[in-house]
Amino acid sequence: MINPPFPSSDPKCPPSHLRDESRFQGVQAELKTPADHRALAELAVKSLERGQPMTFQGARTGLCGGCVPLAGQAVSLTLLDRPISLEETPEGFELRVQPGYDLASLGRDLSRRRFDFISAKVKAETLSAFRSRPYFWPPDPGERTATIGGLASTRAAGPGAHRYGSVAEHIAGLNFLMADGQERSVRRGRHFFRNGRMLLPGGQELAVDPSRLGLSEEADLLDLLIGSQGMYGLITSLDLKLAPAPAHVWALVFFLDSEEKAAALADVFLAEPLSPLVSLDYLDEASLKMVLSLRKTASKLLEIPPPPLGAAAAVLLEFHSNDESEIESAAAKALAGCQKVGGDPDQSWALTDAEAEKMRIVRHAVPEGLGGRLDQIRAKGYPVFNVASDFTRPGPSLTRCLAEYRRDLKAQNLEAVIFGHAKDNNLHVNILTENVSQTKRALELMADWLGRARETGGKLFQEHGVGKLKRELFAQAEKKETVDAWRTVKKTLDPHALFNPQNMLAD
Ligand SMILES: Cc1cc2nc3c(=O)[nH]c(=O)nc-3n(C[C@H](O)[C@H](O)[C@H](O)COP(=O)(O)OP(=O)(O)OC[C@H]3O[C@@H](n4cnc5c(N)ncnc54)[C@H](O)[C@@H]3O)c2cc1C
Repeated sequence: MINPPFPSSDPKCPPSHLRDESRFQGVQAELKTPADHRALAELAVKSLERGQPMTFQGARTGLCGGCVPLAGQAVSLTLLDRPISLEETPEGFELRVQPGYDLASLGRDLSRRRFDFISAKVKAETLSAFRSRPYFWPPDPGERTATIGGLASTRAAGPGAHRYGSVAEHIAGLNFLMADGQERSVRRGRHFFRNGRMLLPGGQELAVDPSRLGLSEEADLLDLLIGSQGMYGLITSLDLKLAPAPAHVWALVFFLDSEEKAAALADVFLAEPLSPLVSLDYLDEASLKMVLSLRKTASKLLEIPPPPLGAAAAVLLEFHSNDESEIESAAAKALAGCQKVGGDPDQSWALTDAEAEKMRIVRHAVPEGLGGRLDQIRAKGYPVFNVASDFTRPGPSLTRCLAEYRRDLKAQNLEAVIFGHAKDNNLHVNILTENVSQTKRALELMADWLGRARETGGKLFQEHGVGKLKRELFAQAEKKETVDAWRTVKKTLDPHALFNPQNMLAD
């Protein structure tokens, strides 16, 4: 595993652009920060002509080193941070945005129903129809500073994926700069596989079995580009599908005095689905301790009560509906479920509408705190990086799955912070390492778990991607035919390996 200990002192690229939130460390690069779309396109075309590699960077909140350059240029997209236009469609509205527009800005602009558009071409009647009721973008990944380009490139998903799926379901199309320097519009239904072949917008043919890439027989080019970690080209704009916002949002947080009870409660909710449930998440005791310790420094957490004394795990639910009574009856069922597993409903939080945000702040504090821990260890001299699971394991109950993880961690004398989504056991087991031996054992364990997840039909590298950090795990965990299929796609779309070199594949 490559992870040089310390950032480059190269003045051309500040250290903060040589790493992401995984703490994977880049080596060197020249930082380019184009100010607008024209400058970005010119830079990309010139770099392609000169054979200079480019690594694209959004907000650098990724968790697998995908935006970290190992050579060539780091192209930061953060100045391309504006909405472009709004269109009314039969399904709702489509908002076209620049790739560096971030989730926080999107949320703010949607809530005030006002956009600072680049294009003045938006029709007055479109805007007035848009303002007639609230809209939202359903994917809700936890890190609000993340850019839309980064979210699309990693196929990010939030807790709300339980109901809404990943960002892929909420992107109608995108503009894409390809290896021939041309920018093309990619919309669903225009380019798709037929008998293992797809005619690409540039005219060349991609010949690969889509099932080897985990895609359906008739998958679309959009399915291939979303989640491609910048390996095939540059996303220059995205069309987001906006949906009518639910009138009511409720969050419930149940604190339990043992992991077993909390897992059993999540299993009850999975077995008897609580409509209109949007997310069902789990936080273990170490996660709750992380939240408590961050309260000393994070002002947002101070506004929220601490987890109750004796809490050993928590189950977090979010409901969306236009009919509040529907949520009320789901909440009553949830409280009954809590009693059924021996929990105390008085040790729970019910947060309605704007208050529901508090649950998200608590949930977000856990990965945030883990990042801070990595910095503390790095400051002591060990070049630690994030070692965390990111796959689904459909089949076993959450209870069984957690028991297996605990057994395996104990056998390896390792500790972890476990949190994540209950559906399909999409848990992030963050193994805590601070020396070479622990890192080695943690990576072996991760490879073993990935193998087991693959055997049981799990989706690997589900939310965060492979990037550079998990490249070796990817090569170990996936079948050779799968790795070869990804290589074929890379060679067809980026024959000179100039887009995000060394992501996912070593060459
Ligand atoms: C506290 C915390 C919570 C998080 N919660 C979640 C969560 O709930 N769900 C989740 O899925 N992830 C989560 N993440 C991970 C991270 O936020 C996501 O991976 C996010 O998608 C990264 O966006 P970014 O703008 O930071 O992208 P970056 O990290 O800058 O880049 C990510 C990848 O996208 C590529 N890329 C970026 N822009 C473009 C472009 N325009 N064209 C081509 N390629 C591009 C980069 O090269 C890189 O490969 C979390 C991270 C943190 C630190």
